[in-house]
Amino acid sequence: MRRSFLSLLALLVLAGCSASAPTAPESGDPTARAVVLISIDGFRHDYPERTDAETPTMDALIAEGVRAERLVPVYPTKTFPNHYSLVTGLHPEAHGIVGNTILDPTMGDARGDTARFSLGNRDAVTDGRWWLGEPIWVTAERQGVRTGTVSWPGSEAEINGVRPTNWMVYDGDLPYAARVDSALTWIGRGARLVTLYFEGVDTAGHRFGPDAEETARAMEDVDAALARLADGLRQRGALETTDLVIVSDHGMAPVSQPIFLDDVVDLERETVAVIWGEAGGVWPTPSADVDDLVARIDALDHVEAYRREDVPARFHHRASERIPPVVIIPEPGWTVSSRGYVENRGMPSGGAHGYDNAVEAMHGVFIARGPSFPDGVVTEPLSAVDVYGILARALGVTPAPNAGSDAAADRVLR
Ligand code: AMP
Ligand code: ZN
Ligand code: ZN
Repeated sequence: MRRSFLSLLALLVLAGCSASAPTAPESGDPTARAVVLISIDGFRHDYPERTDAETPTMDALIAEGVRAERLVPVYPTKTFPNHYSLVTGLHPEAHGIVGNTILDPTMGDARGDTARFSLGNRDAVTDGRWWLGEPIWVTAERQGVRTGTVSWPGSEAEINGVRPTNWMVYDGDLPYAARVDSALTWIGRGARLVTLYFEGVDTAGHRFGPDAEETARAMEDVDAALARLADGLRQRGALETTDLVIVSDHGMAPVSQPIFLDDVVDLERETVAVIWGEAGGVWPTPSADVDDLVARIDALDHVEAYRREDVPARFHHRASERIPPVVIIPEPGWTVSSRGYVENRGMPSGGAHGYDNAVEAMHGVFIARGPSFPDGVVTEPLSAVDVYGILARALGVTPAPNAGSDAAADRVLR
């Protein structure tokens, strides 16, 4: 019974699909075990149950594999911190990617100013000094296992002197089919860990909201890519020797309303930089009274503010000089903003994430199917930091020290 659904699906895909994956010379052993780690950005834990999206391949993978009820992300529930926790097993305070936008007062940039990191800053994302800890592709390559990354955050930098054998510069316009075909080619050439990334569900969730029909269509686009992957592996005789591990970095909550920071803070005089959005923060000027700043922000509705060292321990969001000295955690549905910003730019109408990782709408998925995983099993929630150790065990490599739980890995591995 186990494989019949996905095999039937592969036949259906073949029947309806003209373009097949490239058949370049391939030297890899198709019977060697491989792991494909797939990130569907912003794919909320409850999306598989939606009745407005047809996702037959994901449904088959769930039926034939193991699913955790939820994948609990790390705080802040943003894309880069979570992607890097998934592949290092570390909390952001330990791996250094403490937000999508980061300042490091101890590190200078090329001009000698305080170094700043953001997703679109090529100099930063390719600079290994930002990426602490050891991502799974470094662990694997060091132990002789070849890897390939289709633009996983961090994979464009040399980390501890190591890069994936195959990697790509991030290109959000690259069609999903081309991404999948690269992954298949790399596996054909002997890569045993390959990562894939799909952003469309997150993009639609932000623009139209988690419950929108556009978000359901984006789920179907990803499902078509999963079908192409499963079909390409089956054609190579590698489907039964490959673990497919699907994760997401966070979920999505309906539209954010603004909290006006400029009502209580003199942005010019008191701040060097502000981290705006659903996971907020303030870098105060040297002359600012930090306790007073925290008290004023905390007194606003729909928000908690803390000195960095007082952030509740469950957030694991204290022990890094890259965390802003004032941490602002809004209630779900609210966002740190300013009157000036809203007057000029209006409010986004759709969805958001970045909130407290205890909020269920922020939780993502973990679905895994293949030789390392039991079939037809649903387990208790996993944490994002558990995934690194699970990948290491599926690959048969020795993991670096990490914050994941062995008991959690035992629950999902065969
Ligand atoms: P977020 O703002 O947390 O929702 O981030 C999601 C966005 O991150 C996606 O829409 C992509 O545009 C962007 N992104 C994802 N991966 C990368 C990458 N490797 N390099 C640069 N930007 C990325
Ligand atoms: Zn994301
Ligand atoms: Zn997003």
